[in-house]
Amino acid sequence: MPEVLVISGKGGTGKTSLTGAFAQVAQGKVICDLDVDAPDLHLLLQPEALEKHEFMSGHQAEIDPERCTGCGICAEKCRFEAIKPQGDVFAVDPLKCEGCKLCVVTCPEEAVEFPERHCGRWQISDTRLGTMVHAQLFPGEENSGRLVALLRGRARELADEQGMSLILSDGPPGIGCPVISSLSGTDLAVIVTEPTPSGRHDLERVVELCRHFKVPAGVIVNKHDLNSGQTQAIEDYCAAQDLEVLALLPYDPAITEAMVKGLVVTEYNDNGIAAALRLAWRRIAQKAGLDA
Ligand code: SF4
Ligand code: SF4
Repeated sequence: MPEVLVISGKGGTGKTSLTGAFAQVAQGKVICDLDVDAPDLHLLLQPEALEKHEFMSGHQAEIDPERCTGCGICAEKCRFEAIKPQGDVFAVDPLKCEGCKLCVVTCPEEAVEFPERHCGRWQISDTRLGTMVHAQLFPGEENSGRLVALLRGRARELADEQGMSLILSDGPPGIGCPVISSLSGTDLAVIVTEPTPSGRHDLERVVELCRHFKVPAGVIVNKHDLNSGQTQAIEDYCAAQDLEVLALLPYDPAITEAMVKGLVVTEYNDNGIAAALRLAWRRIAQKAGLDA
């Protein structure tokens, strides 16, 4: 079953608005928001939760003040400086604890507990455009790659159960761990960029990542009409890299107008950027081996 991932080298390219529109146009899909650090597809799709789950990953030290004698051995051993005195005893700073377990094994009083770390929440929801799998990692938490892998696995199971033919994912921005976890094994990456020098630079970095993971990719230039010179430079780069430009999308205030009404732009109207997005989806579907 094809997995189509919409990504961008950085935030703010309009990636989520475009994913929302594709979710409205595409048939037989499960929708997945893999931007677990700052998800916002739910703002467009207003999901109603069907299942909610806690995301636990790794472990974190916790000192039991009733058992701690305040000897300070754990604080001396912790190379992450995560243990500090607190009154007569010691306490762990959860933001600094790396879960190495050294304090657990060196405490003579067995006063250090080592529970699983509660890093975020994920859920399966019903939306007007189909079933959606999404999550929120708590601020400062790591393990976003594991959460992304969990969401992708659950989306695949749901798609199988529901007889769907596509997983459509809104990917994380950037080129870090969550993007790597989103990309590996994906069938098609749709890279959204903007006609600016930094947009082109970010595009080049994402293309390198796709190449590394052997993921086929196509490019959408959003707001192409804001800078024809930079758009041409991106088209030239894509031609040199043998990358298909799937669409040149115009700047269109309808995107924002639709958002204000809680709609995706293809629900809001049928012309302008909405028409261009329908055409873009036909190309994406064709490239991913789907019936559009
Ligand atoms: S080693 Fe154990 S008893 Fe000593 S300060 Fe740390 S937690 Fe408390
Ligand atoms: S688990 Fe490791 S990082 Fe965390 S407080 Fe203990 S020694 Fe420090």
